[in-house]
Amino acid sequence: MRWTQALMRDVAQEERDGLGLSPVDPLDPYALAEEHGISVYALASLGEFGMGAETLSHFTVQRSSAWSAALVPLGTARVIVENESHSHVRRRSNIAHELGHHLLEHSFNNVILGEDHKRQFSAEQEKQATFMAGELLVPLSAATRMAFDGWDNARVAAAYGVSEQFAQMQMRGQRIRAERAARKFGFPPPA
Ligand SMILES: [Zn+2]
Repeated sequence: MRWTQALMRDVAQEERDGLGLSPVDPLDPYALAEEHGISVYALASLGEFGMGAETLSHFTVQRSSAWSAALVPLGTARVIVENESHSHVRRRSNIAHELGHHLLEHSFNNVILGEDHKRQFSAEQEKQATFMAGELLVPLSAATRMAFDGWDNARVAAAYGVSEQFAQMQMRGQRIRAERAARKFGFPPPA
């Protein structure tokens, strides 16, 4: 499957529709995981599955910023293991990113709780999963509207449960469009 941005946007929109969301509603990635029968586990809960305390502390304390989450196959099922030590907004984008891998049916060869996903998925697949997270959490149509209405990153972040950095990533292109349109038609640029 060759994923274009337009195709990926369609997939994200279908998923949002499936949750009964309008194009401007915020999305709960945990609800979307549940919709797909994907359980989300905190790293700490892996102790039950035999992960040692030292390994756990490696992920959650020593390298807490390095590792975010992973989509893990359990037979034909899929689960997501997440680093619960991250901020709420970051956890939301981590889960959305993992769901992006799932929704685009990225296959995996071997799964390990690596520090990043590079050994699991290709660089191209990583970009695609991040794109999907963006479209799931702050879809293009909403970003366009907010750009034309002059919303700043803080306001977008608060409305959609994302970080300001994530908001910037989703808003950048649409702000450029809004500024161009304002110049073309002689309106004052968005605040
Ligand atoms: Zn990834």
